[in-house]
Amino acid sequence: MTPSSARKKMLALHRELDGCRACPKMVGPVVHGPPVMSRVILVGQAPGPREGSFGRPFAWTAGRTMFRWFEQAFGMTEDQLRASVYMAAVARCFPGKASGGGDRRPDAHEVARCEPWLEREVTLLQPDLVVAVGTLAIERVLGTKAPLAEVVGTVKRVRWHGRDVDVIALPHPSGASPWHKVHPGKTLLSKALRRLAKHPAMIAVQTNLRGAPAG
Ligand code: SF4
Repeated sequence: MTPSSARKKMLALHRELDGCRACPKMVGPVVHGPPVMSRVILVGQAPGPREGSFGRPFAWTAGRTMFRWFEQAFGMTEDQLRASVYMAAVARCFPGKASGGGDRRPDAHEVARCEPWLEREVTLLQPDLVVAVGTLAIERVLGTKAPLAEVVGTVKRVRWHGRDVDVIALPHPSGASPWHKVHPGKTLLSKALRRLAKHPAMIAVQTNLRGAPAG
């Protein structure tokens, strides 16, 4: 498949995804990023209540925190990240609020319903590196449950949707958990970001960005 035909297929997939109403409990709307045909895919949990109105993932406070991590670690701005990394999620609609007040975690049925979208995106992107953000995304990509302290700061090699990929796990940047602000999370997050900065796929997307024509 040529890069331009893969991009066209991704645009068609996005149009299809926009119309998905498969999950009755999801508030919606469907949120996804642009068809950035990157070898690096970032997988989050699900959009929050604000992302739908902005029409893009990680558009509110958790996103601001995450983009700040990236900027501090390897100097890429939010715009540069959005232009060079494909942004996906385990579920593409806002799940609504949980009884405790935070955002509801997508349930197993919702995750299973949304998984084929991710699988099709992986087929088109053929990624080399997956940045899994938050415990649910980490669990889905690695295929196993593991405490954050065991996976953040490592690079795992897994087969994911038919593709051998490296996985770098990051904690969820929302303010709901202080894990990334205190020991050992703070140190492990720094280690993970250093590993991300040095990963060949991440270096390649930065090099491509620098080589891209202005405008
Ligand atoms: S969460 Fe995924 S499968 Fe469920 S309605 Fe939204 S896009 Fe469709």
